[in-house]
Amino acid sequence: MTHPNRRPLIAGNWKMHKTVSESVALARAIADTRIGPRTDVVVAPVFTALSSVRAALEGTAVALSAQNLHWEAQGAFTGEVSAAMLVDVGCRFVIIGHSERRQLFGETDDGVAKKTRAARAAGLVPIVCVGETLSEREAGITFDVIGRQLDAMLAVLDEKALATTVVAYEPVWAIGTGKTAKASDAQLAHAFLRDRAKNKLGDGGDTLRILYGGSVKADNAAELLAQPDIDGALVGGASLDAEGFGRIIRAAG
Ligand code: PEP
Repeated sequence: MTHPNRRPLIAGNWKMHKTVSESVALARAIADTRIGPRTDVVVAPVFTALSSVRAALEGTAVALSAQNLHWEAQGAFTGEVSAAMLVDVGCRFVIIGHSERRQLFGETDDGVAKKTRAARAAGLVPIVCVGETLSEREAGITFDVIGRQLDAMLAVLDEKALATTVVAYEPVWAIGTGKTAKASDAQLAHAFLRDRAKNKLGDGGDTLRILYGGSVKADNAAELLAQPDIDGALVGGASLDAEGFGRIIRAAG
């Protein structure tokens, strides 16, 4: 289980699913599940549901996240939402650089760095996603890829910031596919990321929470979460069902 300096964090990424009323119902059901006193729980609904879900989560142990943001504060950026706007609607977290954004919407390491800086400046906790594709894994360059993606984020942080920043290691081949990384392989990647953060920014890397993501389910969560450098999970599909997501939450402690 995770280092005493790091609270486990279970985050649900609802992607482009659910209407406002469906999101509110799911948020209520998740807030009603038993959550261990040391576990942080976050849900990331679609933008249109953020305000209503915030109201539904008032006074509960579940925090609100957005799935994306723009790095500028305001302006002529049609379709975008700024960090301050996310704070205004009640978000405490924001997912940045999800592989779907990188692959389908052309997000770059540079954009991820700008978004990370903007999120932190507004007081949001960024959940920055890194991960290799299947071809990169097969080519033996997993650590080059995730090292490069991590460095882009580390370049805009200092040691102290690591305690309020989250990384999600999400091998792209495991997202939404039902394939999960072996717990021992995931641990190797997490240890690599933590060592790199420590080498670049100092021992504050021990406070950096690194989540695993990629087909996490109630029946594989415990083994993944038992790894020393896996501090929680970023959950897609399985976070859309309160009962299953609740079981993942309880696997964290
Ligand atoms: C994700 O969206 O970040 C994710 C890991 O999805 P899934 O759990 O469905 O693989």
